[in-house]
Amino acid sequence: MDKREILEALTAPDGEALFAKARVVREKTKGNGVFFRGLVELSSVCDRDCLYCGMRHSNVGAHRYAMRDDEIVACAALARELGFGTVVLQAGECPALWTRERVAGLVRRVKAETGQHVTLSLGERAEADTAAWREAGADRYLLRFETTDRDLFARIHPGAPRDGEHPRLAQLRRMKAQGYEIGGGMMLGLPGQTLESVADDLLMLRELAVDMVGLGPYLAHPDTPLGRDQTPSEVPVSVDFTCRCYALARLLLPRANIPSTTALSTLDPEQGRLRGLASGANVFMPNLTPAAYRADYQIYPDKICVVAPQADSLDALHADLATLGLRQVEG
Ligand code: SAH
Repeated sequence: MDKREILEALTAPDGEALFAKARVVREKTKGNGVFFRGLVELSSVCDRDCLYCGMRHSNVGAHRYAMRDDEIVACAALARELGFGTVVLQAGECPALWTRERVAGLVRRVKAETGQHVTLSLGERAEADTAAWREAGADRYLLRFETTDRDLFARIHPGAPRDGEHPRLAQLRRMKAQGYEIGGGMMLGLPGQTLESVADDLLMLRELAVDMVGLGPYLAHPDTPLGRDQTPSEVPVSVDFTCRCYALARLLLPRANIPSTTALSTLDPEQGRLRGLASGANVFMPNLTPAAYRADYQIYPDKICVVAPQADSLDALHADLATLGLRQVEG
């Protein structure tokens, strides 16, 4: 599949044929199993100022919290009880809070006390940090590259270099060499983003040979500079477009683990998650962050697990899966 074919698939009048093709490939590589990953949002403290994110340092209106290690381990124990198999530990970027030693200790504890696989998602970190965490037993690392368009990347990430290697792609390559399963991806519908750059993003997933794909719609946050930016985007913020990207990712990387993301469910609380799974996704990430903290992990507004915690009810999820002939499997 080349760039021209990708662009055609992204802009064809109807996506159904693409979704059907992706379902066939998923069935072949993944059967009817869906992996559940327990998402734990460790803290909303962040040193960075990414223009799109509600947790950006300069957003003085954001309430900040940080979980304690014993609370985090308790969330991982819950993931085990629910038969998930994996926890995803995600946080705003604050190396002073999430020091090399602390995270290494946490990974060891989660693995020893709960037996869960550990996926880290702690943003841009030094090679020595990710090496130490791998040594401590971390299995996977999620780091979206957000966009391969260098100008756009530099515009929305203050302090990022305009040329030379893309910092997030560089880190993903380093972590692959360190033995992690890596997850990359992008946001869809950023102001100024082009369709062509999304095709490049999809091809980049294949070039990196990512094990996991993290992609979802960009949802404007009113208390951020990008949320107020009226620059149009060629890329629609829609369930249909997001699903086309899941389907294309499935065709480009038949074996990848592809979550139907929370942002997609937020865009369409009724149908979003199922449409994601019906277009080739095979992972769901229920939010296991303790209720008291959830509302403060506001990367974008109206996150579905905050406005409707029952949306994460496992019974409802299982019923949804059954309508597609899918079922939860551990892994
Ligand atoms: N600090 C970590 C975790 C950030 S939150 C990191 O940078 O990797 C995880 C993802 O949420 C980001 O990678 C980004 O793609 C997504 N995100 C942030 N703000 C968003 C917004 N306004 N709309 C949609 N997705 C957003």
